[in-house]
Amino acid sequence: NGVTRIALNDGNGIPQLGFGVYQLPDAETPAIVGSALEAGYRSIDTAAIYGNEAGVGRALRETAIPRETIFVTTKLWNDRQGYDTTLTAFDESLARLGLETVDLYLIHWPCPQKDSYVDTWRALARLKQEGRARSIGVSNFTAEHLERAIAETGVTPAVNQIELHPHFQQRALREVHGRLGIVTEAWSPLGQAKALNDPVLTEIARRHGRGPAQIVLRWHIENGHVAIPKSATPSRIAENVAVFDFSLTPEDRAAIDGLDRSSGRIGPDPASFS
Ligand code: NAD
Repeated sequence: NGVTRIALNDGNGIPQLGFGVYQLPDAETPAIVGSALEAGYRSIDTAAIYGNEAGVGRALRETAIPRETIFVTTKLWNDRQGYDTTLTAFDESLARLGLETVDLYLIHWPCPQKDSYVDTWRALARLKQEGRARSIGVSNFTAEHLERAIAETGVTPAVNQIELHPHFQQRALREVHGRLGIVTEAWSPLGQAKALNDPVLTEIARRHGRGPAQIVLRWHIENGHVAIPKSATPSRIAENVAVFDFSLTPEDRAAIDGLDRSSGRIGPDPASFS
């Protein structure tokens, strides 16, 4: 499949392209994740709140592909933040997945109003020490949340999974990640397909004989991000992973860089979401 891996700050590696399963009904998840594995994905991104950890676990048991070669991410939902509640919620996620370990466990949102993300992060550090979460990270953290969690625990997240797509490029936060040694993981990497008919993208796509989604995913790869696009359509699932056999030109990348806009956020603002 040619999917490249990048190094995390804890010595582990992560595939640069993974399959996101947000909004997939649990009952349909085994078949859809199965087709993603067949198409070449070796990384699955789920979360407790998605309600499909059990379906992901079933897909992992039903495939002939060895568990050790598949990178599994799940996330702690907001209402379980806190040291003890996090440890319990993690056990529940493992039980639903039917796994002994996950490759990456993330705090889904910082929820700064609760003021419990530091204690929650201490619990993740313990899970990492115990080896039950091979790597640990966060999601939707701003620079302020990252810096406080690191200062108070001495543990740096391996990744921060954030909203990131051509209309919302998060340049300042990506620079912070670079300085701190945190891998940037892009959620809604296609901007939920809202920008895919932008003429800048369709023109680059035409020139490369590719689809616009492939152009956007290639832009993520060449910027060093991990991207986790979602689709329930087998042809798109296959299209989205086939981005390791061509390159953008510097001009292509610059044109896509130019699509950033201040109003581009699709999801909630991490400073207020709880
Ligand atoms: P996305 O950018 O991956 O877009 C998905 C949508 O784009 C699909 O529903 C489909 O309609 C369309 N699409 C997919 N492939 C296409 C193609 N080749 N051509 C045309 N259209 C195509 O957005 P998403 O689903 O919101 O995000 C992806 C994943 O990110 C989720 O499944 C989830 O795992 C993760 N996520 C995380 C958070 C978080 O807070 N950490 C939030 C949202 C999503």
